[in-house]
Order: sequence, then structure tokens, then C-alpha cells
Amino acid sequence: MGTPDSNKQKGANMPLTNEQKKKYMETNGCFCSYCGKGDIEGQGLQSDEGSCTGTVYQIVKCNVCKKRWVNLYELIEVMGLEA
Ligand SMILES: [Zn+2]
Repeated sequence: MGTPDSNKQKGANMPLTNEQKKKYMETNGCFCSYCGKGDIEGQGLQSDEGSCTGTVYQIVKCNVCKKRWVNLYELIEVMGLEA
């Protein structure tokens, strides 16, 4: 799976270590992967233009250390709703 094409809006990439990623995934993305604080803010979900791949991404920023990163989401379930 490739990374979302978000570099154009993010500027320089700040690589995460595997350790940081693991911790972030284990806490369901509720805490900053860099400083560990919970004061983080996600933008709206986005998808690459014209793609219907079942994946969307979201740029998240930390209000404490000001770092930014990208969450990648995958469609895992669908449920019907009453009209
Ligand atoms: Zn932070």
C-alpha cells in the first residue's frame, strides 16, 4: 500500500519510527505520535482525486508540538440505514 499523495500540501515529511507508529496505532490515534499529548486535531477526510480505492486519509496536527501527520483509513464495514 502506498502512502497518500499528500506531500504537496504537507511540506517536508517528518518520519515516524516504527516504535512511534506502533504506539499510535495501539491507542487508536488518540494521542500525538511525537509528544504523546491528546490535544490533536484532525482535518476532514480526503481521498485522492478520481480514486475509489476504499481508502481515505486525514491530516492531523498536534496543538502542543505543532507537528503534523497523516492517518490512513480503510473501509472495513458497511451497514444499511433506514431511509
Ligand atoms: Zn505533539
